[in-house]
This record gives sequence, structure tokens and C-alpha cells, in this order.
Amino acid sequence: MANDNRVYTFLISPSRTSKIRQLSIDKNLLRAAAAVVVFTFLLMIYGAVRLGQHEALNLKYLSVKAENENLKQANDAYENSYARLKGQISYIEDMSKELARKARMEHSPEIDELVGIGGPETVVALDKAANQLERDVRHINDHLRSDILRMASIPRGLPVNGYVTDGFGMRRNPFNGEGREVHEGLDIAVDFGTPVTATADGLVIYAAPHAGYGNLVIVYHSNGITTRYGHLSRISVEAGQRVKRGDQLGNAGSTGRSTGPHVHYEIRENDQSVDPLRYSAQSSGLRVAN
Ligand SMILES: [Zn+2]
Repeated sequence: MANDNRVYTFLISPSRTSKIRQLSIDKNLLRAAAAVVVFTFLLMIYGAVRLGQHEALNLKYLSVKAENENLKQANDAYENSYARLKGQISYIEDMSKELARKARMEHSPEIDELVGIGGPETVVALDKAANQLERDVRHINDHLRSDILRMASIPRGLPVNGYVTDGFGMRRNPFNGEGREVHEGLDIAVDFGTPVTATADGLVIYAAPHAGYGNLVIVYHSNGITTRYGHLSRISVEAGQRVKRGDQLGNAGSTGRSTGPHVHYEIRENDQSVDPLRYSAQSSGLRVAN
């Protein structure tokens, strides 16, 4: 047929009895229809692929979102810990400043500057601040310890709790009332046998009778300071023995140049006697007669 390229002819019979209809379709039209079908099919495939891609993206988005949420929580926890640590360091710093002030010490430059605010170096800064604080506190501790040792070896109070019947300095001779003499310590009247105690930490350097002092104990403290306890009825330490403030050295008596039971108490700085009241003024229980 000449028009074979252009037309397809369909014979259609709805039923056996009805008459046959003839349908002619242009071949190009059929091709176009086929092309539309193929195009539609390709479009559907493309759509399906894109949908798949979208789903994949969506899943990825969800997982990233969840990961982000976790990171945010971790970050929050980190920031909380950081803030807490910073607060603790700041608190310890305040305490160390207070301690340094009490110890009359210089405090190192502000830790605040080391800690700073925010930024990626914060942990490094905290670490530095903590190290600095550790050094500060160690330094204060050493200082206080030496301070305590020094304080402990400075005479304080009196060796017995009694009446000061004779003070330091020039006085009339107590034996014959004639002439004047230098009294190099305090005379403290107490009952016979009253325990006599060291007024500071130190080393016993003498514990024996000594002329007018009678039974005498001498304790060396530090910085050239010594204390003397005279007229003891009994000595309970020996030379070379270390004593603490409050340790018993012996018992009060009236040995040596004495008119009655009392303790002759002296403080010497580089072997020069000084007024013990200068050291003992703040002691409790100090009673000076007349
Ligand atoms: Zn005396």
C-alpha cells in the first residue's frame, strides 16, 4: 500500500453481529503517542529516582540533626562543667587571697586574667590558673608553717599563774633593803611545788643549780632568745631536751637567793635581759601585785 507509511487501519467489531468499523490512524500520530508513553515512563523513573534521592537526603538530614542534638548536649554538659570548674577555681582563689592577706603575704597576680572568658583556650587557661593556685597555696602553706614555728618559739605568757611581786629593772636590795640592784626578770609568787612550764618551744640548754638562781632551767628558743626559770624546788628536764610551750620544766621552790616560794623568770635577747612583760603583756591570767 502506498500510504502504508502514514496510516494504520484498525478494524473494530464491538460484537459478532454488529457491523465492522474501520479506524485509520496516522502512523506519525501513533509514533508521537508512543513517544509520549516512553517519555512519561522515563519521567516516572526519573521521579522515582529523585524521590529516592530525596528520601535518602531526608534520612541523612535526620541523622545529622540527631548527631547535632547529641553534640549540643555534650557541649552544654561541657560548658556546665567548665563554668563549675571556673567557679571553684575562683572560690579557691578568693580563699587563697584571704589566707595570703592573713599571713601578710603578697598574693600572685590575678588568676582572673589567666582564666579569661570563653574561647578555645579556656581549658588551657583553667589548667594554668589551677597550677598557679597550687603554687600560691603551697607558698602560703610554707609561709604559715614557718610563721607558726616562729610564733611557737617566741615566749608568750608566764611560766606559772601567780602574782608578780617584783618586776624587771632597778630595785632596792630585797635582802637587807640597802642599796639598789638590777632585777633581770620577774618574780612570780606561787605555792611551793607549783608546776613551772616553758613559755615557748625550744631547746633546754641548762638544767642544774646555778649560784643565786638556785635550781635553774634555761631554754633556747630562736633568734638568740633564751628564757630562764629560777629557784625551782625540782627540775624535770635535762640539757639537750626539746620542749614545747606549756611543757613542765620543774616545780616552783625557793632554792638559791630567795625569800620565799616564787619563780624568777627571765627573757634574754642575745644574752641581754629584757622586760618579760614586753612578751607577756597579752597573756591571760597575768596579775601584777600593787
Ligand atoms: Zn627574781
